[in-house]
This record gives sequence, C-alpha cells and structure tokens, in this order.
Amino acid sequence: MKKLIVGNQKSYLKSNEVNDFIAGLRMVKDLSHVLICPSSIYMERYIKHNFITGCQDVSKYPSGADTGELSIEQIKSIGASFSLVGHSEQRSRKNETIEDTNIKIRQLLEEELVPILCVGESKAERDANKTEEVVLNELQGALDDLSTKDVEKIIIAYEPIWSIGTGIIPTNDEIENIISFIREYIEDNYHISGIILYGGSVNPHNIDTLNTIDGVDGYLIGGASSKIDEFIEIINKCTKEE
Ligand code: PEP
Repeated sequence: MKKLIVGNQKSYLKSNEVNDFIAGLRMVKDLSHVLICPSSIYMERYIKHNFITGCQDVSKYPSGADTGELSIEQIKSIGASFSLVGHSEQRSRKNETIEDTNIKIRQLLEEELVPILCVGESKAERDANKTEEVVLNELQGALDDLSTKDVEKIIIAYEPIWSIGTGIIPTNDEIENIISFIREYIEDNYHISGIILYGGSVNPHNIDTLNTIDGVDGYLIGGASSKIDEFIEIINKCTKEE
C-alpha cells in the first residue's frame, strides 16, 4: 500500500516557516509518491530541492497582460509538473465555473502538466441526497470533449466541500461508494481505471481508518500538509509496502 499524497498548503506558511518545512520534509526517505502545492511564491524553493511541485491554481489565459494571474507557461518554465483545478475555494471565492475548469485542464494537458481535478458536493447538496448528481455534473463539465488519452493523465480528487477544513469526514462506506461511482464513470466513458483521491480533513488520527477503504488511490491534504509533523506522519502511514 503506497498512496499518492498531494499537499495543498493554501496560504498557510510564511517564508521562514517554508524553510523549516522543507528541512523537515527532506528527512523523509521516500517522497516518490508525495506532491506539494505550496503558495506560488515558494514553488521554486521546493523545486530546487527536487520535490514534485505544482500549483494550487492556474490562469485560464496564456501569458500576457493579466495582472495578478499565474499562467501555465510560467509555472512550466520554473519546473512545476501539475496544478490543482476546480478547487472549491477557487470556485466559491473566485467564481470559477466548470467551463473555466475544463479550459484549464485542456491547457495544462497541452503543456504536458498534470491536472488534479477537484469535485465534491456542498453540505446542502449532501443533505438533499444529491452527491452523485453533483459529482456527475462536475465530471461531465470538467472532462467535456476530452479523449481517453487526455483523461488518463488526469488525477481526480473527491473533496466533499463540507469536509474541507471542518474536521468532519464522510463514513468509510460513503467514501468507498462515491469513489467507486467516479471510477465507474471513468471506466464506462474512457475505458481506463483512473487515479482517484479523497480529500477533506485528512489528519494523522483518521489516516489509518481511511487507509482501510478500498479503491482510494491517495489523499489531497490541506491543513495537515502545512504542519510538518502531521504531514510526515501521514506520509509514513501511506508508504508501507504490502
Ligand atoms: C483541501 O482544501 O483541499 C483540503 C483537503 O483541506 P483540509 O485537508 O484542510 O480539509
């Protein structure tokens, strides 16, 4: 069992804390399955130390006259290898639409960078029993008009919005069911199995239980990926070979 670990550090760390974090992470023996999304201003520091590094979001526009944007060409030019797309915080706070997410995925693929697509329902949608419907709509919109060759390069993260940063996670059965629903969609439409992660309040205390769920290829980790001790504990618990 070696799970893919993607750390989304959001805007948690200040410059000196990044140095400490990198020093701590460099002590970990096996980082071959660990991907880091630091704040973009710190990305080159991680890349310099050969961490697999990506972005928390990218612009849907090419490099040019776009104040405040971070283009795919720019992140590629410093050696980033992937980007999150469609994260719920981008969608809710910056009004990113599913069409925008689709554009970003296409452009990342064109530049041979890996998109990590986030999908997941809100609390109200869960309460209305609409989890599958919401996730299906998001998959259809984000993957619109992509080929099997494209989709096999994409990582999908199921992130229930109500679980992000709240300490509340779905039951194991709920996670297993929705991951298998996503996998079936990918298998039926693209004839591949896909790489599917779970994200939402993953921490050192719940990781052992999460690791018992069938079909979860790894985790997208927010808060705990900025706390070096917690992050290392999670990595170690997801590194054991069977
Ligand atoms: C996230 O924002 O992608 C996330 C999973 O956050 P947290 O782990 O803090 O819930």
